[in-house]
Order: sequence, then structure tokens, then C-alpha cells
Amino acid sequence: MKALDELTFDNRFARLGDGFSTHVLPEPIDAPRLVVASNAAMALLDLDPAIAQTPVFAELFSGHKLWAEAEPRAMVYSGHQFGSYNPQLGDGRGLLLGEVYNAAGEHWDLHLKGAGQTPYSRMGDGRAVLRSSIREFLACEALHALGIPSSRALCVIGSDTPVWREKQERAAMVLRLAPSHIRFGHFEYFYYTQKTELHQQLAEHVLSLHFPECQEQPEPYLAMFREIVERNAELIAKWQAYGFCHGVMNTDNMSILGITFDFGPFAFLDDFDAHFICNHSDHEGRYSFSNQVPIGQWNLSALAQALTPYISVDALRETLGLYLPLYQAHYLDLMRRRLGLTSAEDDDQKLVERLLQLMQDSGVDYTLFFRRLGDESAALAVAQLRDDFVDLNGFDTWADLYKARVERDGNSPQAERRERMHAVNPLYILRNYLAQNAITAAESGDYHEVRRLHEVLSKPFEEQAGMEQYAQRPPDWGKHLEISCSS
Ligand code: AMP
Ligand code: MG
Repeated sequence: MKALDELTFDNRFARLGDGFSTHVLPEPIDAPRLVVASNAAMALLDLDPAIAQTPVFAELFSGHKLWAEAEPRAMVYSGHQFGSYNPQLGDGRGLLLGEVYNAAGEHWDLHLKGAGQTPYSRMGDGRAVLRSSIREFLACEALHALGIPSSRALCVIGSDTPVWREKQERAAMVLRLAPSHIRFGHFEYFYYTQKTELHQQLAEHVLSLHFPECQEQPEPYLAMFREIVERNAELIAKWQAYGFCHGVMNTDNMSILGITFDFGPFAFLDDFDAHFICNHSDHEGRYSFSNQVPIGQWNLSALAQALTPYISVDALRETLGLYLPLYQAHYLDLMRRRLGLTSAEDDDQKLVERLLQLMQDSGVDYTLFFRRLGDESAALAVAQLRDDFVDLNGFDTWADLYKARVERDGNSPQAERRERMHAVNPLYILRNYLAQNAITAAESGDYHEVRRLHEVLSKPFEEQAGMEQYAQRPPDWGKHLEISCSS
């Protein structure tokens, strides 16, 4: 275990030079205090979790103090936002403080979000409000606990510093961790500005540090692109299987590592709804729940365009063609497991689609349905779940198909079926109304709720005594919360 001043820095991105980022010091926020910290994220840096309670911790992650070896930098990038190219984006309110490597030899970017203005702030104030910082923190750690690759979050630090959004709020900072903060939009920036040498330098940097195994391949950049396609197909399959809606899948919010990144007005589905739009400025539903699948491919094509200096168009096109079949295979595999199946049959896709249509028509809770399906034998579970459906005939037809399918799968003993299904079907997910309750308490200075929610969500598959209220469908007020995009 390390103390805070024992972190070892190795700032590889900063060393790329001024063409890639600008040195900016964080602007501190007033009266910093710890809102919540993640022990699991502390462990990634080999830090003793008790350190989070010390004043110096809050000072370091609110811009009051800095390690001598840190090199805070605002990164430049661009990207396609809602389908249109924006030639100049960049870290407008976040700073890459440096890269720390841990005892296991892993590098982690320390990125402080809400750290003040930078050359890329445009009209923005460089700040992040408490509510969006809490939401990002909870989502990073909850996704990770579900087995969905994500950037991680070390802590949220609250403050007295006022900031204006639709109303006056308080500024906060979240310390985000990821093996890299390089986005699709980084490649787009250097491609469209025709900064050929810097583009090449970026490509070499990403290949050698983040895709070293691809260097052994006959065409290293093609192998790297293929790996990025594969990771995105798998990531988005997980989002779809678990009902996660990202909300702002702009190419500047897509990590080159295939991890969930840069959270906006995200949501986990309560009732199943393929057309759900969590971002209420997304009037056309470009980033609706079911559109995430084709948008994943659209984003990969935008990246492919930016890689044309290194890879032939034919090879890029062929590799892009792998995305959808890979996505479908991963998705179906996850859904089979959610249904408790251990084998594969050709009609499984239809079995899943019919179920989702029934859930959609009746507004069935997406998470609790699968959890309860594993509570009992297939026959008993469907009998108990039947009441949740409006189209009873439709459900009965599906239930017969399902029971027959479970029979052919080998009908495992119930204890075994439950254990297998509960290991992939969470009881607790980050529902918007749960996040909202935690935020309301935190805004009035009470951090117990956000800490408890974080704790519950860190073991989403385990039933936790006394935590029944976190496994409930939303109350009426919590069903259609509009999450503000100004964060
Ligand atoms: P996002 O939609 O949060 O991914 O942000 C898009 C761009 O706007 C990024 O370049 C952000 O750094 C920038 N941005 C968002 N909010 C602010 C803010 N309050 N101050 C400065 N820049 C911001
Ligand atoms: Mg962003």
C-alpha cells in the first residue's frame, strides 16, 4: 500500500509534446470535501483506502495541491457531434494530471474533471456540477461491477464554489481513471488538420502502448483497427444486454480502448424500451437505446476514415464488416446466459426478440424480469411473471417456447440454475431515481446516500441484507426524469 506522495508518475502522453496538449494548472474549488471514494479504484493505484479520509486527499483532487511529478495537460481533439464534424474540441474542463503506474505494472491516467478553464473551453466555465460528477462516479463504478468495460472513478470532491447552469449549483470535481484518455476524435483531429507527422506520432503511441500485441502482426495498424472494432462490438453488446443507454455517442466520447467513456445524460433502462432516448436534447433519437448498435458502426467508420493514411480502404471496409456479426454473436451469447441457457440453438435470437417485444408492449422492468426468472424453475418463474404482461396469450406462447427450450438445454437442478442466472442477472442497477435520491441528499450536504448506493452497486449480483429498497422499480416521480445536458 502506498501513501499519496508515493505514487509513481510516468507521463507518456505529456511527453508527446505541445502539439497534443497544453499545460494548464487546475483552478481550485472552495472548501473541498470528500463526497465519495471508491476503494476498488484506490486499489488500482495501490492506495490505502483510509487515505481518502485525509484532508490532503481532498486538496489533491480539487486543484489545491499537485504532485511535483504531475504534468497537468488539456488534450486537443475534435469529433463528430450528432453526425456533424466539429473541427476543434478538447479538454474544456478536464485535465490529464499525469500517468501513474502501479505495482502490477499498469498505467492509469489521472484525469481531473471540472478543473477549470482551458484553451478548449470555448464558452464554458470549465466546471462540473455536483450532480453530474456524482452520476459519472456512480456509473463508472457500477458498470465495472457489472463486468462492462468502463473508465473508472476514484472520488468526487464537493465544494462551495457556485456555478450557473439552469440555476445556481455547486462545483465539484471527479477524478477519472483510464489506461488512456485517447478518443476516436484524437485521430480525427490530426487527420482533418493534415498534421501528418503528429498523426503518425499519435498512431505509433497508441499502437505501441495500448495495442502492443498488434505490433507482431504483418499489418500492425490494420490489426489495431480490427481489435478496436472487436472491442466496440463486445462493449455495445454488453450495453444492449444490460440496458445501458450512453446518451452522447459522439466520436469525441468514444475511447480508443473500447471502454464506456465520457458520460452525459446516460441511463439504465427501467421498463424495457428499445426506443428509449435518455438525452432530451436528442430530438431525433440518434442515440436512442436501439440505435446504439448502428451508431457504434458509424463511429467506427469515422475512425476508419481518419486511419486511411495507414490502412487501405478495402481492408478498412472489410474490417468494419466484422462489427455487426461480432456484435450479434456477443449479444446473443449474453442474452442466452441471461435466460439461463447453456447451449445454442438457431431460434434463440427469435426467442429473445419475442420476449423483448412483449416486455416493450407491457412496460416490464428489464432488470427485475431476468432476476426473477432465475429465482425459480422455468415453469414456476414464468407462472409468477405472467401477471406483469398485458398480452397474456402472447406471453403464454413465449413461455411454452421457453420451457421447451430449457428442457432441451438439460433442465439443470434449480439451485444450479439460480446460481448460474443470478451471476449474470443483477438485482441492483443504477436507476435514475436512485441516483437522483443520492444527489438530492448530497446537494444538501448529506453524503450517506451516495456512499451507500455506491456500495450496493459494487456488488450488483449479490442480494444484500437490508437493501431491498435499491432493487425496486421506480416510483412514479422517478420514471421519466429528465436529466439535464448542462453538466
Ligand atoms: P461533452 O458533451 O461533455 O463530452 O463535452 C463536449 C465538449 O465541451 C468537450 O470539449 C468538453 O470539454 C466541453 N465542455 C463541456 N462542458 C464544459 C464546461 N462547463 N466548460 C468548458 N468546456 C466544457
Ligand atoms: Mg466529451
